[in-house]
Amino acid sequence: MERHSAWDKIKDKKIVFRFCDEYIKYLDNSKTERLCTSYSRRLAEAAGFKDFDSVTQLKAGMKVYKINRGKNIVLAVIGKDKTETGFNLVAAHIDSPRLDLKQIPLYEDSNMALFKTHYYGGIKKYQWTAIPLSLIGVAVLQDGTVIDVNIGENETDPVFTVTDLLPHLAADQMDKKMRSVFTGEDLNVLAGSIPADCEKDKYKQTIIDILKEKYQIDEEDFISAEFELVPNFNARSLGLDSSMVAAYGQDDRVCAFTALKAIMETEKPQKTSICYLADKEEIGSMGNTGMQSRFFENFVAHLIEKQCKNYSDIMLRDALSNSMCLSSDVTCALDPNYKSVSEPLNSAYLGEGVAFAKFTGARGKSGTSDANAEFVAKIRKILNDANVAWQMSELGKVDQGGGGTVAQYVANLDIDTIDCGVPLLSMHAPYEVASKVDVYMAYKAYKAFYAAE
Ligand code: MN
Ligand code: MN
Repeated sequence: MERHSAWDKIKDKKIVFRFCDEYIKYLDNSKTERLCTSYSRRLAEAAGFKDFDSVTQLKAGMKVYKINRGKNIVLAVIGKDKTETGFNLVAAHIDSPRLDLKQIPLYEDSNMALFKTHYYGGIKKYQWTAIPLSLIGVAVLQDGTVIDVNIGENETDPVFTVTDLLPHLAADQMDKKMRSVFTGEDLNVLAGSIPADCEKDKYKQTIIDILKEKYQIDEEDFISAEFELVPNFNARSLGLDSSMVAAYGQDDRVCAFTALKAIMETEKPQKTSICYLADKEEIGSMGNTGMQSRFFENFVAHLIEKQCKNYSDIMLRDALSNSMCLSSDVTCALDPNYKSVSEPLNSAYLGEGVAFAKFTGARGKSGTSDANAEFVAKIRKILNDANVAWQMSELGKVDQGGGGTVAQYVANLDIDTIDCGVPLLSMHAPYEVASKVDVYMAYKAYKAFYAAE
């Protein structure tokens, strides 16, 4: 198989750079699944999408969105064909690895106030120490009032950090195995160091006082809160040629953004187009905001019901069976510093376009949906006809490790599904790297897929 740089297909590089300027803005506004959901809604509304619940009758060409519990959004453009004949779905996820505050987080030790955390998703713990973190999330009061908190993203805000040991005293630490250098319980976040004027828990009390004054939050409100610590630094162009994007959370907001852009530009498609931006992929897609939730099926049921007067369950079943899906999630680009974990013939390469994977999984393809050859052929044709730069890939060497995506849960609904997405370097690190041309090619692929009949 000959390999080609995707840049060779680009006549005017400015188009790619401009596209990625928008992508960078999207990342900076989407550091949590909640922020990503509300920013995606803003963009969708500006592109003419209406709240699904406010529409009673759907007709071809109409654009709608529905939000699930503030953390997951689905968008659709109604096709000329009935939805029962199948829809074209792109599914990506908008949750990323991070540190979550525990439900009882606040304590003090050695003249400092600290927050206990429980990490979310697969992280290398040492990467999350000694970097600036923003605290973003919501506290929900007993009366249902939702208090938005965002500390760190504004330039004048303070930030947070998890401390690390100085090299001068790290003799014991340096001898440890990487896995055991930091335990989960070591990832405590520094939150303050001024004592309050009281007898007990002086340092903790200062933090409680500030939270009360600025946010009307009491200590007990942490119980019904979702606070996430995410990297404070913003997305930037990377390299002398500015050919790459370095940022937190590109897994998988790079596929979310490209899928969203593609559906926003889809007008009167033959098949109904759906873009699903899921939560909870990084921890197994469980729960009612993850891809395993019935929320998706319920949405499709209502989509059909709002187009006809005689809705029946068999119409939903037919719609699912006749559909196809791109499970769009990032993959590993071959890293010149860590070549030994990848098999060169079947690796994704940075700058060679959007990467497809027939299967994911680990140890003998365990835990994968494995796209059918007939479906892979169909997708190949769609991509080649649209002049998209794409590559076929596998995540690392056999038995080196592995991973999964939402693909298997979509495929279980009897939908033809294949994995695809943008290859990344430093995946799951606080600072991930993508090639701008791959980002652009993912968008081109999704646009072609939505237009397919
Ligand atoms: Mn992912
Ligand atoms: Mn991931």
